[in-house]
Amino acid sequence: MSKESGAESSQVAHVRDPSSVASPRRKSSRREKSQRSQKPTTFNHPILDDTSMNTAEILVLVTIAVGSVIIYLAIFPPEEEKEQLSTSIFNRPEEPIPEPSVTKDGKKYSTVWPNVPEKHRKCEDGGRHSGSLEVVTWETPEQGLGWGATEADESPSLKAEFEEEMKCNFEKFYEAWPMGFRWTCCGNPGDYKWGCDHHFYPGCRCDNCRFGYRLPAGFLDERNKSPHAKGLSLGQGNVHGQQIN
Ligand SMILES: [Zn+2]
Ligand SMILES: [Zn+2]
Repeated sequence: MSKESGAESSQVAHVRDPSSVASPRRKSSRREKSQRSQKPTTFNHPILDDTSMNTAEILVLVTIAVGSVIIYLAIFPPEEEKEQLSTSIFNRPEEPIPEPSVTKDGKKYSTVWPNVPEKHRKCEDGGRHSGSLEVVTWETPEQGLGWGATEADESPSLKAEFEEEMKCNFEKFYEAWPMGFRWTCCGNPGDYKWGCDHHFYPGCRCDNCRFGYRLPAGFLDERNKSPHAKGLSLGQGNVHGQQIN
């Protein structure tokens, strides 16, 4: 309307008069005709334009609408489908809780620290270790390591320090030797702060899981050889994706 010339504005003022709103067409049909010939775009109306769409335009719009729905469903699958994926592929096994170890004085102490303070759980990638800290009580002769994941010849004194001097106080032992623990969620050493690479969905923020790739072939076999990951069941990576090596 703002594009109208002076002559057209007077016409609009006339149409807006309440007395003529009831039947504007009957009186102004001749003037409309003359104005159309002068400036035909003045009377284009969005609704009239819509109804005058040809078949090809309608087909294009329908195709776009259907395509959008298909793309949306591919990106955000329905809830039932998500649920199925999380239970069939990414179902996480129970954490193994070992028997308490026996100390020299005959008392039994647990070697698993379940309620680990948040400050130790936090990782630098924004995630957190969800598992417990567990003292490495097993030996790894192939790496030359003994109790507490320390050199085999030093491990007896470290064990005695933990059990006798520290009375199995987890916090004290963590401050002294965090490498003596492993995270039961991911098998990383106790002081591992970069991320919890457990490779279960959802929650693993490693590059492979985030981008939908499987872990490289043999990765878990290799990691299970480490003294900290021994005996744990770790995820296979985000299997939505593809195998990369
Ligand atoms: Zn972890
Ligand atoms: Zn991962």
